[in-house]
Amino acid sequence: MAMRRVAFHGRHLLSSPHLFRRHMSTEPMAALDRIRNSGLLKTQGLVGGKWIDSYDGKKIEVQNPATGDVIASVPCMGTKETTDAISSAYSTYSSWSKLTAAERSKALRNWYDLIIKHKDELALLITLEQGKPIKEALGEVSYGASFIEFFSEEAKRIYGDIIPAPLSDRRLLVLKQPVGVVGAITPWNFPLAMITRKVGPALACGCTVVVKPSEYTPLTALAAADLALQAGIPPGALNIVMGNAPEIGDALLKSTQVRKITFTGSTAVGKKLMEGSASTVKKVSLELGGNAPCIVFDDADIDVAVKGSLAAKFRNSGQTCVCANRILVQEGIYEEFAKAFVKAVQGMQVGNGLVEGTSQGPLINEAAVQKVEKFVNDATSKGANVILGGRRHSLGKTFYEPTVVSNVNRDMLLFKDEVFGPVAPLVPFKTEEDAISMANDTNAGLAAYVFTKSIPRSWCVSEALEYGLVGVNEGIISTEVAPFGGVKQSGLGREGSKYGMDEYLRG
Ligand code: ADP
Repeated sequence: MAMRRVAFHGRHLLSSPHLFRRHMSTEPMAALDRIRNSGLLKTQGLVGGKWIDSYDGKKIEVQNPATGDVIASVPCMGTKETTDAISSAYSTYSSWSKLTAAERSKALRNWYDLIIKHKDELALLITLEQGKPIKEALGEVSYGASFIEFFSEEAKRIYGDIIPAPLSDRRLLVLKQPVGVVGAITPWNFPLAMITRKVGPALACGCTVVVKPSEYTPLTALAAADLALQAGIPPGALNIVMGNAPEIGDALLKSTQVRKITFTGSTAVGKKLMEGSASTVKKVSLELGGNAPCIVFDDADIDVAVKGSLAAKFRNSGQTCVCANRILVQEGIYEEFAKAFVKAVQGMQVGNGLVEGTSQGPLINEAAVQKVEKFVNDATSKGANVILGGRRHSLGKTFYEPTVVSNVNRDMLLFKDEVFGPVAPLVPFKTEEDAISMANDTNAGLAAYVFTKSIPRSWCVSEALEYGLVGVNEGIISTEVAPFGGVKQSGLGREGSKYGMDEYLRG
């Protein structure tokens, strides 16, 4: 079906006029009814505790990537609504930041409890607007909620310091104070977790927040914000605006009241936000693109390596910044690994995420599929072989076959850039030095994976890898208790863990 590209203030949202007229298929409709009945289908922005439309009445349609159906419309907001959201966050800051840590902690804990209570509805919403299989969506709700729980506890542990003074009649105290109003801009691949891991520590520290979720997935953010209100987080402490991304971004950047920008998304937008933060000297945290190497050594346990790399590659259909982007396999194990890996990939079921047993959902939009096609074509034109998949899936729309490409090398896009889709490039290597050199041959430095049975090698290689996170014999490495973040051009700052608090404190 021909897709129409709708230019939206510098972003491209995909829509098709034909799809709007179609009736929604049964499972998505039942899921939406369930969410509506729970009261969590919120379709307005949240400013100062009030649900509002855009001031000019403009709307954006939110689509289900698995069906192309429109799920709901949300306001297309811009400068004015964002300015009001900032004012509301600024005025609430003076009261929220003055609460005791125990009071803030209690409100956050209530929020956590409500997220868990509405786990099923939130997961359905994630699958509907983002496409990931329901099992993964439930996993995201638990993961997303874990940041609120963790930071509700951490709220009570903001310690300062007392420094021995150079003069006997003086005392030196370091006091940790909240940074102020925070602007948080988040992507579509984790509609809940990317928000909670910013908003959790921000609120715990006493900051107030203006969140701009992705226009592809605003409904989960709005539902979570409604639960925050129900939990007793005061009106104005958490505001949600969405719509014209550059306008909203500029309003946040220009405001002298916003003291911190936290962003997860593309490296290109992250660089713009960093540049734009300079004029008002804001604190900045960035979680940007990755190009994760997954290194399988000859001495790896093959079952562990296959299971781990499969999880690291195909989670969320390959649409995470920590997804294994290059699977580097040592020559002695290459054939055996490739065979076992292909077999495992063949076992994955592609389909609508609401259908039980689905392990691969659709990609987020047509542009994402075209990017995958471009990367695969580039690799095959330069000598790589598609050994599994390599085409759009027969289900059509934005479904793409889980794909394995062998004999990938440094000249190919699949090696150089993030494919952000279900394509596993296998790259052969000879020695440990070769593997490290290939792995580090990129400007990105977010996550890396190593599979080996040798303990000394696991230490040496982990330390030689220029990456913020390294998983050893493990494909899923994200947890709220460990600091998450990149080196080089993958970002600044850390999210999660006790280190995640520092990003929202001064002192
Ligand atoms: P992705 O390719 O994952 O969508 P983006 O970096 O484009 O990555 O988007 C991540 C978030 O950044 C989204 O919420 C998007 O709307 C927002 N965004 C995109 N462009 C801008 C901009 N110029 N200013 C502020 N936010 C932006």
